[in-house]
Amino acid sequence: MIPALITHEISAKHDVPPGHPERPERYAAILDHIGDDYQSWQRVTAPLAKRDQLKLIHSESYIDMVCDVAGSSEEAAPLDADTWASKRGYECALRAVGGACVAVDMVMTDKASTAFSLMRPPGHHAEPEKAMGFCLFSSAAIAARHAQEKWGINRVAVVDFDVHHGNGTQACFWNDGSLFYASSHQMPLFPGTGAHDEMGAYQNIFNLPLAHGTGGAGVRSGWRDHLLPSVVEARPELIIISAGFDAHEADPLGGLQMASEDFGILTNDIIDAATHSADDIGALRLISLLEGGYDLDALGESVCQHMNALEGV
Ligand SMILES: [Zn+2]
Repeated sequence: MIPALITHEISAKHDVPPGHPERPERYAAILDHIGDDYQSWQRVTAPLAKRDQLKLIHSESYIDMVCDVAGSSEEAAPLDADTWASKRGYECALRAVGGACVAVDMVMTDKASTAFSLMRPPGHHAEPEKAMGFCLFSSAAIAARHAQEKWGINRVAVVDFDVHHGNGTQACFWNDGSLFYASSHQMPLFPGTGAHDEMGAYQNIFNLPLAHGTGGAGVRSGWRDHLLPSVVEARPELIIISAGFDAHEADPLGGLQMASEDFGILTNDIIDAATHSADDIGALRLISLLEGGYDLDALGESVCQHMNALEGV
């Protein structure tokens, strides 16, 4: 089996106001760095998410509100202080969710060894009833529920190394003991959640807040010694990586000071943990979804390191 890269040209077109960090150029920068490499990856177009998929996490009224704001506006309109939507932005967000769900489908049907969705905007700050932090829909959480609903998977883990805490994924998983969330993130930093003692109703949330300037070795040892053992113990049948690259030393929003290579090593450590979990269930199922990363060169380089590691799945 070969890995799948999930893309759609709409990701290069999602309008945001000038100067906004979560911009279409992020997608173009990644494709530039990929260039003519990674020919062994199958390319898959991200489909539009169906309303039933959004409803796995979000309420009807929230979906209608986002659709109304986005659908009535050619220009980007604000959903909160830093989250914007337009007609194209809405389609883009739908395809980010659709890309996440098709990534699940591909590994569940043995059509791909693993799948990585390059779709934007990110999703891990979106709560069931709230757009936030550039995120409209909680793509990773929806993909986890989709795996349970469509494929009968019991336990799913989201592992999140974005520099920001995924308050949205945490909120979606808090009251469900079949869903596990592990996150390293800088603290203090937006959105302010993610303290070590936020553990979920079923001890199913594992948070590792880290200080500004921790560095790649410190982040990686945090995953190796604390987060990944907890994930393995949870025995997930599917692992979803919330792959944010804004912990990079060049990133304008984060300060965890990771190097591009650190993302490759960390991805390999996650794959090792997934392999341990797979010993129990007989199948290694791992997908990855793009979250943050706002320095264009650092983002492109780090994504390539991540993809190099994913080729080993
Ligand atoms: Zn982030």
